[in-house]
Amino acid sequence: LWQKVINNIKLSVTPETYNLWILPIKPLTIEDNIFTLEVPNIYFSQWITSNQQKNIEQILSNSCGQQIVLKLKSQQDISDIIKKVEDTPDHEDIQASIMQKDQINPKYAFSGFVVGASNRFAHGCSEAVAKNPGKQFNPLFLYSGVGLGKTHLLNAIGNYIKQSTPKLKTLYVTCEKFVTEFIESIRFDKISFFKSKYRSLDCLLIDDIQFLLGKESSREEFFHMFNNLFNLKKQIVISSDRPPKELKGVEERLISRFEWGIIADIQPPDLETRIAILRKKAEEEKIYIPDDVILNIATQIKSNIRQLEGSLLRITAFSAFTGTPLTVDSVQKMLKDIIKTDNSKHITIENIQKAISDDFNIDIKDMKSKRRTDAVSFPRQIAMYLARTLTDEFSSNTIGEAFGGRDYATVMYACNKIKSKMDSDPYFNAKINKIIKKIQSK
Ligand code: ADP
Ligand code: MG
Repeated sequence: LWQKVINNIKLSVTPETYNLWILPIKPLTIEDNIFTLEVPNIYFSQWITSNQQKNIEQILSNSCGQQIVLKLKSQQDISDIIKKVEDTPDHEDIQASIMQKDQINPKYAFSGFVVGASNRFAHGCSEAVAKNPGKQFNPLFLYSGVGLGKTHLLNAIGNYIKQSTPKLKTLYVTCEKFVTEFIESIRFDKISFFKSKYRSLDCLLIDDIQFLLGKESSREEFFHMFNNLFNLKKQIVISSDRPPKELKGVEERLISRFEWGIIADIQPPDLETRIAILRKKAEEEKIYIPDDVILNIATQIKSNIRQLEGSLLRITAFSAFTGTPLTVDSVQKMLKDIIKTDNSKHITIENIQKAISDDFNIDIKDMKSKRRTDAVSFPRQIAMYLARTLTDEFSSNTIGEAFGGRDYATVMYACNKIKSKMDSDPYFNAKINKIIKKIQSK
């Protein structure tokens, strides 16, 4: 019966619509006069309700000789989709880590990693390490700005080793988790367990090492574990948001250990690579995106691969939800917000300092001074927070420099303080957002 319906629909819609919207629908049950269809997600329900429901009911009623009503059941809740759009990979990493002991995320493989000039070296080193762990490139130190593939490469190494040499004990861990585990092991008197766990590894993949900054006791433990593994010729791979020499506040002896191995950075991808990445992701998600649309997105979103991915998810969700076809124009509208934030590189720390000094009526000089009166230090903290969120300066050291040579901890303290005040105080939140708008519109 369902076959009959879709054959009928096929005649009246374009092949694209048919493939996208009709083929994935599955007939479930027919009871009394209710015909239930299973659709992949709520966007399908929306689309059918507004485009095909009457038609389908008509066809069914005619074939059965009685009035048939359509009921749609979706496999996936809309909240799941929204979550998918909003989820940062970091969050998924955490979920994956709960599910798996080695905490390696199976979704990241070398096969899904697009190689271009910006990441060729880092990728090559990672593959070499995966094929010969503990042999040549040890430790491997990868660094880049946010969203450029460090976590992906670390997990790809892990997945490769797991497959090729399952007997090796490999562990992926974020530095944050390492620190938490360490602190808890002290609190719950499990320190020897902690130590033996890490010292028994064959390959340690540790992500976002910059988290060690300002964590002295954990740093000490990390150093010991590092030496231990290293002396046993176990593979260590480290990622960081900055090169070793900029890990100020981490002991020289640890940094020089990092420098014994090989250091590879990842730069923002060039246009060709961005296009290749979009194609690959679209293929993985099984969505069709016209070439001119891909080019359009790749031209505008430059700095961050996570944003490229996010934009892809967003346009597919949006287009499915509203039934808007994917054209250069429609996509431009859908991506307005993302593109605006991607242009944030035009916002400089000076812009922010100027805006804050106008708004709070203080002197820019004071913002860069050592003065600590509330009247100055609070606006200064806001400015540091904005500098960290609105500009490309992902290194807190640069930000600290711009505010009279303040250190990393001070900048992070300011950012956390402002962030939590924004979370808890809606008026403050509104005020900050107003300032942000003002800065962005300049
Ligand atoms: P980082 O850890 O450097 O912040 P991630 O590894 O989390 O960045 O990458 C962000 C997203 O971009 C991930 O979903 C990842 O799969 C994707 N990505 C990054 N680089 C590439 C690449 N070269 N090819 C394909 N996908 C990539
Ligand atoms: Mg990462």
